[in-house]
Amino acid sequence: MTAIETPTTTSEHDTGQVTGPARVPVPDGRLMIGGERREALSGMRLEVDDPATGEVIGTVARGDTADAELAVRSARTAFDQGPWGSMSAPDRSRLLRRLAVLVDEHRDELIDLESLDAGKPVSATRRQDLPAVTDCLEYYAGWPDKLSGDVVPARSDALTYTLREPVGVVVGIVPWNFPLMNATWKIAPALASGCTVVLKPAELTPLSALRLGELALEAGIPPGVLNVVPGLGSEVGAALVSHPDIDKVSFTGSPAVGRQIMRSAAQNVTRVGLELGGKSPNIVFADSDLGAAAAAASSGVFFNAGQVCSAGSRILVQQDVYDEFVELFSRRSRSIKVGDPFDPDTRMGPVISAKQLERVTGYIDSGVRQGAVLHCGGSRLSGKGHFLEPTVFTGVDRTMKIAQEEIFGPVAAILPFTDEEDAVAIANGTSYSLAAAVWTNDLRRSHRMAHRLRAGTVWVNTYGHTDTRLPWGGAGGDSGIGRDLGEAALANYTEAKTVWISLR
Ligand code: NAD
Repeated sequence: MTAIETPTTTSEHDTGQVTGPARVPVPDGRLMIGGERREALSGMRLEVDDPATGEVIGTVARGDTADAELAVRSARTAFDQGPWGSMSAPDRSRLLRRLAVLVDEHRDELIDLESLDAGKPVSATRRQDLPAVTDCLEYYAGWPDKLSGDVVPARSDALTYTLREPVGVVVGIVPWNFPLMNATWKIAPALASGCTVVLKPAELTPLSALRLGELALEAGIPPGVLNVVPGLGSEVGAALVSHPDIDKVSFTGSPAVGRQIMRSAAQNVTRVGLELGGKSPNIVFADSDLGAAAAAASSGVFFNAGQVCSAGSRILVQQDVYDEFVELFSRRSRSIKVGDPFDPDTRMGPVISAKQLERVTGYIDSGVRQGAVLHCGGSRLSGKGHFLEPTVFTGVDRTMKIAQEEIFGPVAAILPFTDEEDAVAIANGTSYSLAAAVWTNDLRRSHRMAHRLRAGTVWVNTYGHTDTRLPWGGAGGDSGIGRDLGEAALANYTEAKTVWISLR
C-alpha cells in the first residue's frame, strides 16, 4: 500500500465502515494504546492502498513522537504496575491460547484483510500466513510456566539460583511482506516471557496488526500489554526506538534501517534484535533431482512476488546441468499465474507499491546493462496495480549488482559453478547470511555444505521452510543478529537474575 499523508480524519473512518474491494471490512485505523482506540494526537492520518489496484482502501492514524510517548508510557505502566507482571504463568498461557483461538475464529477475515492490504494471493495467505500465526501463538502459549531458572550449586555457604525474568517493555517494528506473521513472531514470545509490547506495523500494511490488537483485548490480555501504533518509520518508529524507557527493540526490516536503529538504541544501551535482509543462494549440484530442484527454486524465488527475506534469489547451478536446469526452471516460472490476489488460482500477486516496482525494474535494467541475459520476463503487466512478470536472468556473474544486492522482487539470477569449492565461494560471497539451500543426493556433501555455508538456516533438498519451533535469523552482516522463533526467541525477552542467599 502506498502511504500518503492526509489531513485529519473524517467520522466515516471512526466507524470501521470503509470497505475494500474484497468482502472484508477495513478496520477504522485508530491507534491502540492502553486498551483504548484513539486518533493520533496530531489528528493526522495515512492513506492505505491496495497494491493490486493502486486504489485507496482506508486510512490509519499517523502516530508520531507524542503517540510514541503515550504508547511507551502505557506499556511501561502495564509492565511495572499492571496485572501482567503479577499474573501467574498458567494464566498468561491461557490468555495467549485464547488469542490463538480468536485468531483462528477470525481466520477468513484476517486472510482477506492481509491479502487486500499486502497484495498477497489468498491461496498463500490461507495456506501459509494464517496457519503460521495461530501456530506461533499456540506454541508460545505453552512457554510461560516453563521459563524457569536453575539452582546452581556454586557454594556450600550459600543457596545460589537464577530466576528468568522478562526484560520489560519491547518495541516490535515489522515490515510489510508478512505483516501479521512478522508481528506475531515478535508479540507471542515477548508476551509469553511476561514483557509488554508496543508494535509498529509497516506504514504500507498496518491493517491486520490493528485487528490483532483488538483481538488481544477481546481475549482478555490486559490494556497496555499490547499497544499498536501505526505511522511512518521516520516519525513514530524513530521515536519509539530511541525512547529511554524501553528495554528491547525487536526489528525486522531492511539493513539500512537496522543500522539506524542500532545506532539510535546505542544512546540508551537498549537491547536490539535485527532480522534483516537476504540474498540467499540455492545451490543445485548435478547429482540432484533436477525436476524437484527446479520446482522448489521457482517457488523459492517467486513466492510472495520475491518479497521474502529468504527468497532464493541466487540460483547456483553446477556447470554440467546448467542448460537443462535453466530450461526446467524457466518453463516452471513462465507457468506461474500472476494476477488478482483474490482469484484462488493466482500464484503471484503485485509487488507492494509503485516505489517498489520502480526499484525492482531498476535492478532488471542494471542486470541487462551489466551483461546478464534476460532469459524470460522482465516486463510490467499492463493495467492497474503493481504487477511484474517472473523474471529470470542467466549468465549472471557473481560480481553483478543482481547477484550481490537484495532486490526484493520476482527476479532470479542463475549462476554457473564448477565444484563444491567454487559453490561455497560464490554462496558466501555477499554481505548477507540469512539462508541457503543445497540440492544433492550425496549425503556427505550435504553435511559438508551445511557446515560451510554462512547462513542462519540451511535447507537440503528443499527450500524455504520455517517452523515456529526452529530458530530463524541471520548469521551477521546485512542479514542481522539475533533469533526469532523457537526456544531461542525467548532469550530475546528474558534475562537471568542471580539470587544469592547466605546460609551462614
Ligand atoms: P524497512 O526497513 O523500510 O521498514 C521496516 C519497518 O521499519 C517499517 O515498519 C518501517 O516503518 C520501520 N522504520 C523505517 N525507518 C525507521 C526508523 N528510522 N526507525 C524505526 N523504524 C523505522 O523494510 P521494508 O521495506 O518494510 O521490508 C523489507 C526488508 O525487510 C527487506 O530487507 C527484507 O529482507 C527484510 N525482512 C527480513 C526478514 C527476516 O526475518 N530476516 C523478514 C521479512 C523482511
